[in-house]
Amino acid sequence: MIERATLTRNILIGMAGGLLLGSLIHAIDLADTNPIMVYGVNGLFDIGGKAFVASLKLLVVPLVFVSLVCGASNLSDGSSLGRIGIKTVGLYLFTTAIAITLALTVANIVDPGMGMALTTDAVFVAKESPPLKEVIVAIVPTNPVKAMAEGNMLQVIVFAILVGVAIAKSGSSGQRVRETLNDWNDIIMRMIMMLMAIAPIGVFCLMLALFSNMGFSAITDLIRYFLTVAGVLVLHFLLTYAMMVRFVANLNPIVFYRNFYPVMAYAFSTSSSNATLPVTLETVERRLGVKNEVASFTVPLGATINMDGTAIMQGVATVFIAQAYNIDISMTGYLMVVLTATLASIGTAGVPGVGLITLALVLQQVGLPVEGIALIIGVDRLLDMMRTAVNVCGDAAVATIVAKSEGKFDESVFYKDETLSPTT
Ligand code: ASP
Repeated sequence: MIERATLTRNILIGMAGGLLLGSLIHAIDLADTNPIMVYGVNGLFDIGGKAFVASLKLLVVPLVFVSLVCGASNLSDGSSLGRIGIKTVGLYLFTTAIAITLALTVANIVDPGMGMALTTDAVFVAKESPPLKEVIVAIVPTNPVKAMAEGNMLQVIVFAILVGVAIAKSGSSGQRVRETLNDWNDIIMRMIMMLMAIAPIGVFCLMLALFSNMGFSAITDLIRYFLTVAGVLVLHFLLTYAMMVRFVANLNPIVFYRNFYPVMAYAFSTSSSNATLPVTLETVERRLGVKNEVASFTVPLGATINMDGTAIMQGVATVFIAQAYNIDISMTGYLMVVLTATLASIGTAGVPGVGLITLALVLQQVGLPVEGIALIIGVDRLLDMMRTAVNVCGDAAVATIVAKSEGKFDESVFYKDETLSPTT
């Protein structure tokens, strides 16, 4: 097995190499019919990138199921499961609310859309969002096989918890199944490590194919919007998570970042917290020291319901669109934005570009023209990559805090390669 530090270095090299070469190809502006584009960029490298993402996704459902059944069955009493659930969901909602508040505050200082003075008379027929009642009922699966086949994470999570709890209550038969599943968990973890070994090539292909085709001209037009979103993402990443890890979990944030940052390279290249999930889970357990009982629940749930980076984009985009159309949002409007953006992330899977879809919901809620989304679409691909990296980091931070507070945390794993003490 290739050493972890070497692997991380290779992934970063693959990422930077793909980005540079891709940007170069884009700058040369080859015709779409040029053989380099046909057989290289949109052929070989596109296939390589897509196959890599597919192989990551392939592990998501078996991993979430097996890992969560093991986790839930190892938590012998139901009350700790409930407590972990409440803490996790509470922290996810809390960090998302902070993220969006930060975004609204900074956007109101920077004024990214000032002076664009667009008017709208286009009529937009909004798609009805499903009533809350339906959303809640839909969390319970009617057919677990269908839920798995469709990759409906919330339903898979509910089913896995039920199976896990039943195993814990089933005495010696439960014990036998638990042992088998623990073995399966090890096997799936091994598969993740095997996949990680080819990640440098996968990441290189993804970045090359993407950046060869991506235009940057939109960024210059929307530079204030772009920099505001990017700035708040960095702020939330460096400030909110560091403070939480330091003051709530009482751990060294630098060690946290150092152990976790390779996962962000996967998130950045795939733009999907779901596809990154296998790597996030492996790292949270084996590098951050979160025990499986907590990680198996918090991380998959986070990939589905916790999207701080997405909420940041939505906050800045709302202010940007309001300013571009010269529409005033009242204080209640802003509160609505916080509430809707926080809730909108629940139930939407972490896949590329989903943030723009839920943005429509947020805009409607405060009476802004949904067609304003067209203004920011040009730079969203790159921002999607950045916010996905923040999304997965938020999941890991919450998992760490919950595990620490529950005594399900291994500090010797967290500080394994470190000379830094817990308080430096
Ligand atoms: N791509 C993001 C994720 O997977 C979601 C989004 O903001 O579009 O976390």
